[in-house]
Amino acid sequence: MDTQIKTYEETLKENMVLFKKWNGVDDNRITVSLGPCGIRFLKPDQLQEISTIAKEQNFYIHMHISEVQEDVKYAKKKFGKRPVEVLRDMGFLGEKTLLAHAVWVSEREIDYVAKTLTNIAHCPISNTLLLSGIAPLINMLRKNVRVGFGIDINPEWDVLAEARLAMYLTNNLYGTPPRLQPFEILKMATGGLAKFPGIEKHGLIKPGYDANIVAINAKTPEGWPYRKAYYSAVLFSRANIETVIVRGEVLVDGGEVLTIGDRDIEKAKRVLSKKLEELPIFKQSK
Ligand SMILES: [Zn+2]
Repeated sequence: MDTQIKTYEETLKENMVLFKKWNGVDDNRITVSLGPCGIRFLKPDQLQEISTIAKEQNFYIHMHISEVQEDVKYAKKKFGKRPVEVLRDMGFLGEKTLLAHAVWVSEREIDYVAKTLTNIAHCPISNTLLLSGIAPLINMLRKNVRVGFGIDINPEWDVLAEARLAMYLTNNLYGTPPRLQPFEILKMATGGLAKFPGIEKHGLIKPGYDANIVAINAKTPEGWPYRKAYYSAVLFSRANIETVIVRGEVLVDGGEVLTIGDRDIEKAKRVLSKKLEELPIFKQSK
């Protein structure tokens, strides 16, 4: 992670180098996408150029959209339309695009996202931490939008924590009766709804799909006792992760990480926390 602010040209060039070097590596386990952060942070002609490059060169796109109300105000003032409409008109919407947040989206914007099969990363923890708002998850699910979870700035980096908070917040936002069933949220967490770039064959155990499996030991004291509702064991317990299998390769066995040593993990954590502290957002909150 490089925290120095670079020019548009430098960043685009760097993205291209990164793409050539890493995209599709290890039997497509690594996907490099173009990441124009958000519409407020680039000039309209730069955004348009990125969209054109993505189309011509078959790039995936990852952006943050309508995270705060300021994004909507900006789009209306600068473009005379709402953020998702800006993306639609620039050709950004589609199956190869992943939009984070989508907190302040109208019904019509949700329709555009649904119709184009654009992917949404729901980030409830980041949205709560930064006081951005609560995304209209039920409205998106009702229209069959491809929604999964993103962690954004969640310091826990825990998808199950995202899933729990999404359920609490959604029930709170929409009121009784609860609209979001635990099984539905578990499906979201395991990739059953989203077809995110690079992990399309994910979320089901069946022939032709990637063998991605996480086994949880619910028999430990932290495990949830209602075994009948197996999703409860996943969503509400702090049970230990026993096994992690990615594309058939065992990465964690008996709770032990096999592919990287403790010392390397500590080293990576130190490097990462130093980099994170340099980010403007963390500097502000000191
Ligand atoms: Zn974000």
